[in-house]
Amino acid sequence: MKLVFRVTSSQRLIFVEQAIEQMLAFRQRSWWQAEAGGVLLGRHLLDTNDVVVDEVTAPQKSDRRSRFSFFRSKRHSEIANSRWQEEASTLAYLGLWHTHPERDPTPSEVDRQDWTQAVLKDTFHGSRLFFPIVGIERIRVWTMDTDGAFFELNVEEKNG
Ligand SMILES: [Zn+2]
Repeated sequence: MKLVFRVTSSQRLIFVEQAIEQMLAFRQRSWWQAEAGGVLLGRHLLDTNDVVVDEVTAPQKSDRRSRFSFFRSKRHSEIANSRWQEEASTLAYLGLWHTHPERDPTPSEVDRQDWTQAVLKDTFHGSRLFFPIVGIERIRVWTMDTDGAFFELNVEEKNG
């Protein structure tokens, strides 16, 4: 399954099947499953302005995870860095994902603070980062730019 979201009139955010499957594997379908998360890695397409998420990092032992919280350890940025080096500097950091134990996920206050910190402090290409939340039945994606403007992306296409 490929998932395409509209960002602006000239930009789309595309998740390839592998990235979707890596996130869906951590869906919290049972009461005992803790939140999971990681970083999004992919490409800015030069010809179309589109952004492609090729892969995501999986939860690490050093993360702190519970049913209703997820604290990402530094290990994710280390993995992102080494993947970036392996891929000859083409695999960019695009944002952060995590799961929620809700059918239809919505960001918490802590999520918004986390995202604001990421946009202010992390190093990335362009002016915005993407923040999918993987619920039990739906994946929803928000974006925040370096001015703090924040909105949800609409799904444009779902296939496969
Ligand atoms: Zn959350």
